[in-house]
Amino acid sequence: MKISISYPPIINHLGQKAMVSQNRNVQYFKKPTYLLPVVQAQAATKLKKNGFDVIWDDGNAELKTFDKWYLDLIKIKPDLIFMEGTTPVMHFLWDLSKKIKKELPNTILVIGGYHAMRQPQETLLKSDFDIVLKSTNLDFVLLELCNELKINNLSLNKIETKGITYRKQDTLDEIIDNGAFKMVENLDSSEIVDRNLVKWKNYAYENGNFLQTPGTYSSSVIRDCMFGKCTFCRYNGPELSFSKMSITKSVDEYEDLIINHGVKEIFDDSGVWFRGKDAIDFAKEIIRRGLHRKGCYFGFNTRFEYLDEETIKWLAKANFRFILIGLESGSNYTLNKLNKGYSMREIRMNLELMTKYGLHPHLTIMVGYYWETKEMLDETVNVVKDFMFKGLARTLQVTICTPVDYTPYHIECVEKKKLIVDNYNDFDMSKVIVKTPIDHSYYYKAIKEMYSIAFHPKFIIRQIIFLFNFKKRDWQFLFTYSIRAIRRVNQHIFNLTNKAS
Ligand code: SF4
Repeated sequence: MKISISYPPIINHLGQKAMVSQNRNVQYFKKPTYLLPVVQAQAATKLKKNGFDVIWDDGNAELKTFDKWYLDLIKIKPDLIFMEGTTPVMHFLWDLSKKIKKELPNTILVIGGYHAMRQPQETLLKSDFDIVLKSTNLDFVLLELCNELKINNLSLNKIETKGITYRKQDTLDEIIDNGAFKMVENLDSSEIVDRNLVKWKNYAYENGNFLQTPGTYSSSVIRDCMFGKCTFCRYNGPELSFSKMSITKSVDEYEDLIINHGVKEIFDDSGVWFRGKDAIDFAKEIIRRGLHRKGCYFGFNTRFEYLDEETIKWLAKANFRFILIGLESGSNYTLNKLNKGYSMREIRMNLELMTKYGLHPHLTIMVGYYWETKEMLDETVNVVKDFMFKGLARTLQVTICTPVDYTPYHIECVEKKKLIVDNYNDFDMSKVIVKTPIDHSYYYKAIKEMYSIAFHPKFIIRQIIFLFNFKKRDWQFLFTYSIRAIRRVNQHIFNLTNKAS
């Protein structure tokens, strides 16, 4: 049975490509960052290990045009195609499913991703997708589904696999919901990504988060998020579980990546990575195997408060560098509304500790919340400037808070009638789409101001002062990474602020 895990190139009227993978909020970029969709890659690996003929078909990372990607897919004639989508690309994928079905009527079309997962009926009614996969543990569900379809000669008349909603083959208007997939106890039964299968080098260079290349994403140690309460975030909902992988299994993968693939930077894209004893034990295992001396940096996502001084000390010893943290806002009111679970006080203390031990915190910030006043926005800009000028954070990323995929924030915006658009295509983070107390241009200006910090003399002087720590990473940061960063910053400024002037 031939299975294709497919990402079609989706290009907008400005010639920008949609970044869809890894369940990110979709954004369009001229020079996209190609992110390895880790769970999908684990799914491909699992299917291959179980004897299926798997095609890893990422048209974006392979730099294909849509036409080339489409013709190649039709030629391959898979028995099953799996795609992933979020709100702003749903119309595109629905139309695409109809186009594919005309050419390949016997191919089973399966869709995953948070939008379809939370409204499976809508997708089945509006498209020619046959099955909506409703679990974030899609590697487990996809294997079970494919095994069942294989036994039943690809019949869609009665499927038992849990965690899907499907349209019956003989009565096309009958939609069957098979309920939720049972939670996975731990991730040790998930697969370590088969790097050759997913052509890992396609994702190893064009990623602004890597100070050194080739870099790669590891098989995540945590699926979903152990916090899971932030209102705007997809890792928030009753259908989401939380499961983790053992330290030994994960460090085995790091060792393989460093020794056998020459990887220079490894990032774990778990919603939030290990904390406390797990994080310290992980760092100790890296040190025990001598991997901290191989010139490879490590990084992960976390939340403020999850790392205390002892943990940070061990992480620094083990050569961790890039720490991606959601600051979201400089206003305590907003942090509270978003249910972040901490205030500016904890944020500052945490950043001071990370900087003390030489880590490079990367802040993610959002603007354009439906309640955000000029004062709140100014608080954010001032806090971010302060952190960046004092060296408490090295890099940042600012986005427009866009309600998507039926997150609590999205539902709140609908209920409070704050949304000013109803076309899903408009949910692509390129503009503010909620009613706000101030003119939208203030948010675009704030984004520009924050991205421009990278060019500010105070920021540059701070980076020069860091050189006197005589750490390789600080020299690399100033002399190699900054060139790439400037290109990316320019792109972000263009993408998000061309409406500001
Ligand atoms: S801590 Fe991060 S990953 Fe977890 S729910 Fe909040 S924003 Fe999402």
